[in-house]
Amino acid sequence: MEKCSSEDTIFACKMCGHCCRGAGGIVVSPSDLERLSAFLQLSHEEVINRYGEYSGKKLKIRMGDDDYCIFFKAGLGCTVHPGKPSICRAWPFFRGNLIDPESLEMAKDFCPGIQQDVRHEEFAQVGLAYLKREKLLANDPSREANALIMDEV
Ligand code: SF4
Ligand code: SF4
Repeated sequence: MEKCSSEDTIFACKMCGHCCRGAGGIVVSPSDLERLSAFLQLSHEEVINRYGEYSGKKLKIRMGDDDYCIFFKAGLGCTVHPGKPSICRAWPFFRGNLIDPESLEMAKDFCPGIQQDVRHEEFAQVGLAYLKREKLLANDPSREANALIMDEV
């Protein structure tokens, strides 16, 4: 999950794959579905049928038998990097990590890409600027990932 410019100083993905493992987290919003379909050159329906599953109204990416996201391949990492969903593009700047210093400390243990000595204030400031610039703020909680911070900050 590479970032550029100032966020590079506090986050650089090490490709360990931790954040691509585990069920249920990768929400695909309507705009994410557009991007993913264009990247895969498939119709929305084909993307949903091949790679998706619904949890209530929310479309999510299915997990493979290895418990990793179906798009994660060992040695390659994310195989849909340019088309990946907003929630993947937003990590590690999730709502909890932006508003809660303890959550950021837990995220540092989980993700070796986060600079270990970054202060929470700096992390939150840089992260929010990144999310705004990349248009990764949420505005429809019913169809977007809960971990995205809302477009009201
Ligand atoms: S957990 Fe962090 S370092 Fe590992 S793949 Fe995810 S973003 Fe990269
Ligand atoms: S879409 Fe890519 S970055 Fe997101 S969980 Fe799947 S493999 Fe990881």
